[in-house]
Amino acid sequence: MSKVIVVTGAGGVLCSALAKALAKQGHKMAVLDLKLEAAEKVADDINAEGGFAIGLMANVLEKASLESAKAEVNSKLGSCDILINGAGGNHPLGTTSNPHLLEDDLENTTEGFKTFFDLDPEGIKFVFNLNFIGTLLTTQIFAKDMVGKKGCSILNISSMNAFTPLTKIPAYSGAKAAVSNFTQWLAVHFSKVGIRVNALAPGFFLTDQNRTLLTNSDGSLTKRGQQIIDQTPMGRYGEPEDLISTTLYLCDDASSFVTGVVIPIDGGFSAYSGV
Ligand code: NAD
Repeated sequence: MSKVIVVTGAGGVLCSALAKALAKQGHKMAVLDLKLEAAEKVADDINAEGGFAIGLMANVLEKASLESAKAEVNSKLGSCDILINGAGGNHPLGTTSNPHLLEDDLENTTEGFKTFFDLDPEGIKFVFNLNFIGTLLTTQIFAKDMVGKKGCSILNISSMNAFTPLTKIPAYSGAKAAVSNFTQWLAVHFSKVGIRVNALAPGFFLTDQNRTLLTNSDGSLTKRGQQIIDQTPMGRYGEPEDLISTTLYLCDDASSFVTGVVIPIDGGFSAYSGV
């Protein structure tokens, strides 16, 4: 059955692939992104392939922006059945330069060098807001219409770093842990009104956000990039397509008794102790 599916951050690498895959199943797609041009491009691609999509600007941190996107979705597609909270990401101000603090680091005056003690609360807040508050606010706006309706669900995008934090990115790891925790909380909270809530926990996917951290200009892996491969039992980075089948399953009635799960899609990264 065709559903109305709203995807935030859908102009980005991972969620554009999810939106396109869901469109191929015959669903009506609302492609939302902070960048209108990116959202419209994805919607155009879907429509060119014979699907049905609209591209809209929506800032997941502003209720008014979400409300106006919702009004457009309701008038052009109908009320939302499935919400994918895909907008998210990290910020350099919430990131340390080195994985471990060394005594000499406190004397390091190199421009841009950051220890834990230099982290800017504004950067930490940015990351928590984008990943956690953005998920919460968007759910407040779109899930109201799902109450009591059949076949509705929400899919959050957490990360494998929610299980065990990654070095250097305390804000992003903590914010995604909050997304996983919130997924369980919301699953319980919405359990009596027919809304299922689940999450994906993607491992490492090469995207514009992390490409310069993980690859050199000649395409070879950086030290951190190689470390990730060594820690991934399946020995490769994920491709956006790796997220599709689990997404289709969690958005479909095939998973009608599944709620509150966070599924790692990480080539075994979160299962491996490194030994
Ligand atoms: P991406 O940067 O390609 O996409 C993110 C999109 O979100 C962008 O199009 C951006 O414009 C949009 N966005 C940013 N701020 C927004 C806001 N305030 N309101 C609305 N949209 C906003 O990143 P991606 O790698 O495709 O990531 C998608 C999701 O997957 C994110 O939640 C990310 O944290 C998560 N994730 C990514 C990886 C990875 O390896 N790439 C791993 C685990 C989890």
